[in-house]
Amino acid sequence: MLALLKQVRDGETKVENPYSVAVKPQGNETALRLLDRVFVVSDAPWRALGVIEQSGLELRPEYKSYDALERFGIMLEEDQDPEDCRCGEVIQGRVTPEECKLFGTVCTPTAPVGPCMVSSEGTCSAWFKYGR
Ligand code: SF4
Repeated sequence: MLALLKQVRDGETKVENPYSVAVKPQGNETALRLLDRVFVVSDAPWRALGVIEQSGLELRPEYKSYDALERFGIMLEEDQDPEDCRCGEVIQGRVTPEECKLFGTVCTPTAPVGPCMVSSEGTCSAWFKYGR
């Protein structure tokens, strides 16, 4: 909170690490080594954004037996945003939730249409509850 308040006071907006005693710039080397042993960087689909190259992780071939999709033969359908939902643009900061014609009328926290309204921390949901 102190770090955020200092940024507000100084008119700054930046990513900051206020836990430098425990969180090092190089990260947790043990955890990174384990991640590298088990996963490989891959293209990944992101809700409302589509596939982003080299943005995800998938199990290395030697760990594929732990992949629930393969193990249980699950096929995921391509993620489609509901018609007229602008969630992808909202989470990229290209439009505000109010610029979606469904906001607050058809799409509300109690009857969400798109993913940004579903959970309480979703941008549209928070915008609906707290305004701008
Ligand atoms: S208000 Fe609902 S429909 Fe519109 S962008 Fe947000 S989540 Fe999608």
